[in-house]
Amino acid sequence: MYDAIVIGARCAGAPTAMLLARAGHRVLMVDRASFPSDKPMSTHLLHPPAILRLREWGLLDSVVATGCPPIRDYGFVEGPLDFMAPLPPIEDVGVAYAPRRHILDHILVEAAVAAGVTLREGVSVRELLRDGNVVTGIRAQDRNGVSFTEHARVVIGADGTNSLVARITRAPQYRARPPLTRGLWTYWSDLPTPNLPSFRANGRYVFAWPTNDDLTLVGIAWRANEYPDDEPEQAYFTALHDTAPAFAERVREAGRAQAWMRGSIPNFFRRPFGPGWALVGDSSYSKDPCTAQGITDAFRDAESLVGALHQGLAGERPMAAALADHERRRNAHAIPYYEYTCDFATLDTYPPEVLELLALATQSGPTASNLVGLFGQTVSPADFFSGTGMRSLLDSLPEPDRLGWRLRLARWLLLDLGRYSQSSSRLAERLIARKLGEMGQFLVPA
Ligand SMILES: Cc1cc2nc3c(=O)[nH]c(=O)nc-3n(C[C@H](O)[C@H](O)[C@H](O)COP(=O)(O)OP(=O)(O)OC[C@H]3O[C@@H](n4cnc5c(N)ncnc54)[C@H](O)[C@@H]3O)c2cc1C
Repeated sequence: MYDAIVIGARCAGAPTAMLLARAGHRVLMVDRASFPSDKPMSTHLLHPPAILRLREWGLLDSVVATGCPPIRDYGFVEGPLDFMAPLPPIEDVGVAYAPRRHILDHILVEAAVAAGVTLREGVSVRELLRDGNVVTGIRAQDRNGVSFTEHARVVIGADGTNSLVARITRAPQYRARPPLTRGLWTYWSDLPTPNLPSFRANGRYVFAWPTNDDLTLVGIAWRANEYPDDEPEQAYFTALHDTAPAFAERVREAGRAQAWMRGSIPNFFRRPFGPGWALVGDSSYSKDPCTAQGITDAFRDAESLVGALHQGLAGERPMAAALADHERRRNAHAIPYYEYTCDFATLDTYPPEVLELLALATQSGPTASNLVGLFGQTVSPADFFSGTGMRSLLDSLPEPDRLGWRLRLARWLLLDLGRYSQSSSRLAERLIARKLGEMGQFLVPA
């Protein structure tokens, strides 16, 4: 009898198992894969909060030692917006890395085993065992086709988006949306890009970052329903030329080091617990890969879930209450990033006025850093888009532009209100515009 069985041994499962074992619990971790094993459907960028956790867990040095280069600046190019900025730090960590998954996942699995976790590889879980409605264990099959059962006080599904645990327990889903983008990417040699911006134009999104073995990952995302039928090389270079022509020339001269990869993922939250079971990582919260949040989220989720499970297993609190707090904590953090990601994933061009404002604002170092921090999970969208966030964005503008932009912002707010009550907002606009005289032109809709 184990305290916990973890199904899935990658970014969510291995840290969950490791942290439970470090807290003194008896843990079995199973995966149908054998490690080292690649997870091809991933572009493997880790934002600063993930790097902070690797450091806290004592694993960062192992990742750095694999030769994966640090990434200190992110940036964006879209219309007049064209900037790079240093990542704002979380604590003192303002760096990202993009280690290949066969490397990262292996480091995580080895750390779990070193913490005392029993690992069984090549094992497929087929069923959950139950006593009434309480999950009590697993029925699984090993690589020789031999079936076996194991029991535990809690069974944790770290088994990805199509989670068996979620399906069997019918974990309720919420805020669900279908896949929004679909990506195509590969790896290039002789393409040094320590710091390269992402490009958005014409409903395409181009991203690039360095990884292990002196290779650079370069990918393109389309809206899921616009993914081209052409063969990959043609689709890739056509979109690359449309979106980032100068960079496309550099990629053409580089050497393709690997096969073409494609992928997309649905968007949802799931209730992450029930009697005798819990979910962690993609099985519990999945989102479009365009903002590369998945692994960073899986690490945070593992840490928060283990905090709650430990309280329950150690008898410090009723398990259900501890896990309900975990779900609230997860959602308070994740929902603003989820909405930001779903918005980013529409790949709709921002209105010209918004791009103009952002282009002006990025002339100020701190605002530019805040913008890349949104992507890098060190600045919450809830803070960035708050009244205080907008005020500090306006304050960062060059002095002569401030008043005009304040008025335009007021107009946007009114127009946005207009979505809900058009006539009253138009009336309000007209009244304010009249009082403002000439400056009121900013408030009159085009
Ligand atoms: C195209 C694409 C690009 C992405 N790019 C990034 C990125 O740049 N940065 C980022 O942070 N995230 C990215 N992600 C998301 C990231 O890959 C996931 O968030 C992350 O892999 C989630 O980890 P996980 O451990 O929850 O699940 P997974 O990595 O899916 O691992 C689940 C494990 O469970 C095992 N398993 C499943 N069912 C069973 C079973 N019945 N029995 C035994 N074993 C089982 C599987 O073998 C697997 O090893 C991307 C995703 C996609 C689709």
